[in-house]
Amino acid sequence: MEVSPPHKRRKHNKDVKFTTHFAQLSLTTRAHYQTLFEESRICFTEKNYKELFLRLLPKLRKICIHFKLYKFENDLVPLQFEQQDVSTNLKLESILTRRVLQEKVDCSICLSTPSHALITRCTHIFCRNCIRKWFACARNKGLCPYCRGLLTIDDMFSETRPDTKLEILMKLLRQDTSTNSKSVIFTRYDDALCYFHVHLHHAGFNCLIYTTKKLKYCENSIQKFENSDGPVVLLVDFETARRKQILINAECRVFLLDACRKSIEEELVARVTQPVSVSRLISENTIEDKILSLDETFTETDTLDFYDDQVLRYLLDEDSTI
Ligand SMILES: [Zn+2]
Ligand SMILES: [Zn+2]
Repeated sequence: MEVSPPHKRRKHNKDVKFTTHFAQLSLTTRAHYQTLFEESRICFTEKNYKELFLRLLPKLRKICIHFKLYKFENDLVPLQFEQQDVSTNLKLESILTRRVLQEKVDCSICLSTPSHALITRCTHIFCRNCIRKWFACARNKGLCPYCRGLLTIDDMFSETRPDTKLEILMKLLRQDTSTNSKSVIFTRYDDALCYFHVHLHHAGFNCLIYTTKKLKYCENSIQKFENSDGPVVLLVDFETARRKQILINAECRVFLLDACRKSIEEELVARVTQPVSVSRLISENTIEDKILSLDETFTETDTLDFYDDQVLRYLLDEDSTI
């Protein structure tokens, strides 16, 4: 690792290709997203910046990276039954979509926005986990928790789960099968670093982390990365990377996990001496699209960040909800 002179902004090689890969929010993630987005708009109108910057915006941005960073829920417990895919039943699919996104219906068991929504043929909506727990109790088996109607496996339909950023990232990482392939992943959130680290590690990737925040992973992870001759992934906290002006001396692919302004993207990519390609992962129709377009909308201001009213108004504009 080298450290470039302070205050000198490195420019990345203009030839490197940037590609955007779009992830979709699932139905229930979208419902959570909309609630947060509306709360953020209210906070902005009321000039409650503390709440907006410290709580809502980070939550909004994290939910775009992965819903697990917003609400931790253990869904690794296998279900006792396989539900049908709701996309095979158009009528139930439209009811589920309307009731979750527009009517903001709650799960009738836990009384909150359903996660991994499931709809029964009697059109009652629950979290997948809530119904699993309900059925775990013998006397409830085969009965709808809401209307007590009879339910079989054929009567329960789960929402279709689109690919998350994690799945897209894994696919992209696997595409490069060369034996010494190196990839750097940038994100601003420590919990995203940890979450992705755990899951990539479980999926068999050789992973290293670089951050100086809560975790005590330090600079030698960059040296290990540079010296490694097998396929390796380095997860980097980008605030630390920017602040410490790190330089990663390696030929590698770069992945940007959360949306940032293009000027910041370029600065991040310049932290790598030989970037082969840059892939940004963006959740479609969210605040992430808008963040990405900030530089085209607000050209003159280099220091401009989210703390500007104009920028906030643009980011929290109504039409970015759907
Ligand atoms: Zn529930
Ligand atoms: Zn029912």
